[in-house]
Amino acid sequence: MGVALLVLGAVGADLVRRGLHQARLPGAVSAGGSSRRVRRDTVASAHGASAPADSTGSSRSRVRARIAEEADFTYIAATLLETDSTIRRWPDERLSRPLTVCVIRDRVDGFRDDFVANLNYALGRWNGVLPLGLSAGADSASADVVVTWTPQLDSGKTGRTDLTWDRRGYIRHAFVTLATHDPSGRLLDPQRMSALALHELGHALGLGHSTVREDALYPVATALELSDRDRRTARLLYELPPGSIR
Ligand SMILES: [Zn+2]
Repeated sequence: MGVALLVLGAVGADLVRRGLHQARLPGAVSAGGSSRRVRRDTVASAHGASAPADSTGSSRSRVRARIAEEADFTYIAATLLETDSTIRRWPDERLSRPLTVCVIRDRVDGFRDDFVANLNYALGRWNGVLPLGLSAGADSASADVVVTWTPQLDSGKTGRTDLTWDRRGYIRHAFVTLATHDPSGRLLDPQRMSALALHELGHALGLGHSTVREDALYPVATALELSDRDRRTARLLYELPPGSIR
């Protein structure tokens, strides 16, 4: 169900997304011909300079073997199902330079200052999982990750993360949109916002959805803590070289 919703959401998302970003963040989205974008959504009903990847066949075989080893402890396989079997993540060079995060506090309907604290909570949960850090306080023009709020999202979602990445599979920007209301019009409380931010930041790091309810990346975001599977999947993602595993 979650995967089906994601696919349906992705089909119609591109035009909407480009329009939003051009309107809100002029110049922030790479317009290069090689960049591509993906949208990930969170269902709301209960509450989403390294060397180029070695593309040789033997390297891909090793990557596939590593993924198979971790299959029972991670949702990396489900992530790859959502990315056409391509590893996408931030470049290794960012392991020594934290990702910069811009938090846009637009006073949209339903916004409350608590939500910024909820986002910071989620940033804190992800910090330390990876050598890759997340540091708030950047401006929108220079930030790697931009977080904003909107009163409501379409398609039955409360969160959305759009990524841009280059042809090698390195993520270049992430845009996270958090809704202050669920699709039924109910205001999110701080607990749900924390779970939503934790989920969407996982997408911003390159993770796809889990099929296990207790994981932060389960399509219906309720987890307030990262599970062992969340942490292990993220670490594996940053152990593997970006690019196609086929
Ligand atoms: Zn999601």
